[in-house]
Amino acid sequence: MLIPLEKDYLTWATTYNIRIKTGKCPKCQKQIITNIPFAMGGYRGLKSEDHGCGEKYTRKIAVPYSKEEKSYWSSVALRI
Ligand SMILES: [Zn+2]
Repeated sequence: MLIPLEKDYLTWATTYNIRIKTGKCPKCQKQIITNIPFAMGGYRGLKSEDHGCGEKYTRKIAVPYSKEEKSYWSSVALRI
């Protein structure tokens, strides 16, 4: 379950060391950017908004949040 958070995404990205990604939607060629913070379990991430092509074409980036998970993943960013 994704929990949308009302927070400045640049601050969010810096706090959790998440890289903001930009790119084109493969379906409609619209420029998309991951600028919506979300929290999911022990992860914190950024996703792009649904611009009309559906959830499948949104981008998501998440990183482990808790210390335990951080050491487990050795600060490797996980793409979902
Ligand atoms: Zn699209």
